[in-house]
Amino acid sequence: EKTLRLILGDQLNRQHSWFKKKQDAAVYLMMELRQETDYVQHHIQKVLAFFQSMRLFAQWLEKEGHKVIYLSIEQKENRQELEQNIRYLIKREDFKQFNYILPDEYRLDRQIRNICKQLEIETKSFDAEHFLSDRLAVKSFFSGKKTFLMELFYHSMREKYDILMDGNKPAGGKWNFDQENRNKFDEKIMVPSAPVFNRDLSDLLHTIRKAGIKTIGEVDPKNFQWPCCREEALELLAHFCDNLLPHFGRYQDAMHSQHPFLFHSKLSFALNSKMLHPLEVIRKAAACREKNPDKYGIAQVEGFIRQILGWREFMRGVYWAKMPDFATMNFFGHKRPLPAFFWDGKTKMNCLHHAIKQSLDHAYAHHIQRLMVTGNFALLAGLDPDEVDQWYLGIYVDAIEWVEITNTRGMSQFADGGIVGTKPYVSSANYIDKMSNYCGDCHYAKTKKTGDKACPFNSLYWSFYERNRDKLENNPRIGFVYNTLSKMKQKDEILEQAERYLKDLDEL
Ligand code: FAD
Ligand code: SF4
Repeated sequence: EKTLRLILGDQLNRQHSWFKKKQDAAVYLMMELRQETDYVQHHIQKVLAFFQSMRLFAQWLEKEGHKVIYLSIEQKENRQELEQNIRYLIKREDFKQFNYILPDEYRLDRQIRNICKQLEIETKSFDAEHFLSDRLAVKSFFSGKKTFLMELFYHSMREKYDILMDGNKPAGGKWNFDQENRNKFDEKIMVPSAPVFNRDLSDLLHTIRKAGIKTIGEVDPKNFQWPCCREEALELLAHFCDNLLPHFGRYQDAMHSQHPFLFHSKLSFALNSKMLHPLEVIRKAAACREKNPDKYGIAQVEGFIRQILGWREFMRGVYWAKMPDFATMNFFGHKRPLPAFFWDGKTKMNCLHHAIKQSLDHAYAHHIQRLMVTGNFALLAGLDPDEVDQWYLGIYVDAIEWVEITNTRGMSQFADGGIVGTKPYVSSANYIDKMSNYCGDCHYAKTKKTGDKACPFNSLYWSFYERNRDKLENNPRIGFVYNTLSKMKQKDEILEQAERYLKDLDEL
């Protein structure tokens, strides 16, 4: 029977069973939609990466002999919205069945299920064949628990997939080498640059601009850095394994003003668009260590695998366990709007300046920049988690709600009140200085808590705890903070300093 099969922009999985053999009755539908470009303001590199990858995926399908309908953004017959396009095509081509792959976003999942309810033809959903755990795996793993501990879930995943295991024990005698992931970057070490994909996206950029899509950030269309097909994604993976993985764990948390990527893989877009399968990435990293344990230390490889086999799967599970409630959680009741410098990087705080500027330039910041610079500031300053989410969801090339919101609202903003983490990730200048070279060139003084040029993180840190005493004081992992606070001689001055900063965040 003539079947319309929908492929969403983040479902570019060539290994999916749909494509294993040619099916004459199946027509694959891919669409560039204003619905998707406009639900939040995205970075221009993100829109380009998705559209270009979708276009190349459609070309690949056709080359493999599959039938494809591709609605590009500028096409007149494109209604720019999922339901209207689907209805229009079913009528036009007289489809008898509608198939779709289960979406990863709650919003799309609900929308497509509603569409299916209304359609008069038969509908069927298929698994994405991408993740290593079911949507509800985390929910059942932690059934009855308030806090979900990533670490426990991660152990079970290591065992399930037999990754870095010596029999039934973790390789190297420990599950987690987190303690060895905390080095400051050593400037004597050369950071190899990522492969360049010879791709000129000027025409596509022109099309996007002409369509009037509002975006943020910068791009050099002649020098596009994100992989847009499986071949490029594999090239990036090979580059990572050969050159970066040997240092990955050690410098995982380091930040440097001259090195936006350091030893990070930049694979998140390729993974989230499903050009790469998580297990192939994990197995390749594990195989490096098996072949050459001297070059690939356990702490380096485990640190990387934990991110994908642990965090990535865990966050997806938290998302499906807690949505839709998760999207509106605001444990601290934070309401302050985002200061303007989030959109242009113009702040005297050097750490924020670099983290934001590189996000605008590259649609990228690595984990610690997202968590301990921008996220840390947002939480200390009491910024509205809705606005914080919108910013993260727009600006990063890898931002798709299931992994953005769990990291942002959960891990970073503690707006979930402690589902993802056991305590808020906040710090004063001390941590930022320990992990980066930002403080040396800063307008503010990293050691000062009060007075002229005192680093804002130092007073905001204590004022955050003071403001939220009723919510945090009884947390056993935080009690020590309140002990220190009660003994502080300068307490009132510090809190006053914070108030002054909070009154006009745009001035910082
Ligand atoms: P690497 O450091 O090389 O790590 C390898 C891979 O591990 C990544 O590609 C990613 O797939 C996975 N990974 C690492 N950390 C996490 C994590 N905490 N959760 C899930 N997967 C992880 N990641 C996204 O993919 N999309 C997002 O929208 C996103 N938003 C974030 C928001 C905040 C506030 C924070 C703190 C983190 C966020 N992350 C997000 C997680 C992480 O920062 C990115 O996955 C990572 O920076 C991507 O760069 P990379 O590929 O070079 O990662
Ligand atoms: Fe950031 Fe404070 Fe360091 Fe400046 S001194 S870079 S504001 S932590």
